Amino acid sequence: MPATAERLCHFTESVIREMTRVANQYDAINLSQGFPDADPPPSVIEAAVKAMQQGPHQYAVTWGAPNFRQALIEKQQQWMGLDLNGDEHVVVTCGSTEAMIVALMTICDPGDKVIIFSPFYENYGADTILCGAEPIYVPLEPPNFNFDPSVLREAFKQKPKALVLCNPSNPSGKVFTLEELTLIADLAKEFDTFVITDEVYEHIVYSPHRHYYMASLPEMFERTISCSSLSKTYNMTGWRLGYIIASPEIIAGARKVHDFLTVGAAAPLQEAATVALNLPRSYYDEVQQDYTRKRDLFLGYLDKAGLRYTRPQGAYYVMVDCSDFDVTDDITFCRWMAKEIGVAAVPGSSFFHEPVNHLIRLHFARDEDILHAAGERLQRL
Ligand code: GLN
Repeated sequence: MPATAERLCHFTESVIREMTRVANQYDAINLSQGFPDADPPPSVIEAAVKAMQQGPHQYAVTWGAPNFRQALIEKQQQWMGLDLNGDEHVVVTCGSTEAMIVALMTICDPGDKVIIFSPFYENYGADTILCGAEPIYVPLEPPNFNFDPSVLREAFKQKPKALVLCNPSNPSGKVFTLEELTLIADLAKEFDTFVITDEVYEHIVYSPHRHYYMASLPEMFERTISCSSLSKTYNMTGWRLGYIIASPEIIAGARKVHDFLTVGAAAPLQEAATVALNLPRSYYDEVQQDYTRKRDLFLGYLDKAGLRYTRPQGAYYVMVDCSDFDVTDDITFCRWMAKEIGVAAVPGSSFFHEPVNHLIRLHFARDEDILHAAGERLQRL
């Protein structure tokens, strides 16, 4: 039998989704794979029912249905403070997962280098390798997940094509400050590098922290490829609706890549999701308040159990330090915890390039009764 591609040897299957299988095996409360219990807003579901009854059912325009793109840019230009045009600045993708790989494939040739902060969301390493590019990892040092500017400068000296920035950050919960973003932007300009952002948690930020869009920094729009999705903001991870916002030159390339990869995102769901994109500002305030309540509730249980963790500034994950436990590694610890404690987490090592194996990631996008139940179980630790 002929061999499968050599590049597959350089990454593993998703550990996040493997931990969901472990959770199911032991009937544990699943705080591993991060998706919400909540459904999309009722008005959006009604719009989806209507779209199923009345269509559209055939392909949308490959780079996104015109009304979806229009609703998207009307929303995003308010938040990003940019003057956007739905015909020139947007590609609608099948989730941010597709947006990220399209972004990388649009700008990277085999052998190019890409800076990735570590810990990182597991897709970025695989995406880079699938493009034939080579990651340069820059550590975000736990417990505060700050980076050393001189290490970042050394990485830029290797002439990378792009830097990947997940902000607010999965898994660390870090929200990059304006000063940090400015430092990264200045390096990107100095070394003529693109910045690819993953901003799927843009609306999940805990006061007093604030999300700044890299694309909105001075002279950064032309070199920033902003990727995001509707998944986390409107509780529709299964709808697979994401997008890229960038300059017309980048978008022209990204449309070609996207067209040949997937043709397009689901037409009836784009139709329905325009209702979500038109929700008033108060909706986003409620998202913030709701997640702030969940975060505080869950961290309260971690405090009560005497666990050490890094307080999340954004997103819905918390990295918990398990070095006080008599365990050999985080993978064994997570399996043991799912089986004996009944709570499933993701081993932190799956997010790090460095040999870090004393952290686990728990998510708190669950209903409050489930967070209470998980919190009680964690007391047995
Ligand atoms: N982004 C979520 C997480 O990090 C879900 C991952 C996935 O399964 N695509 O857990």
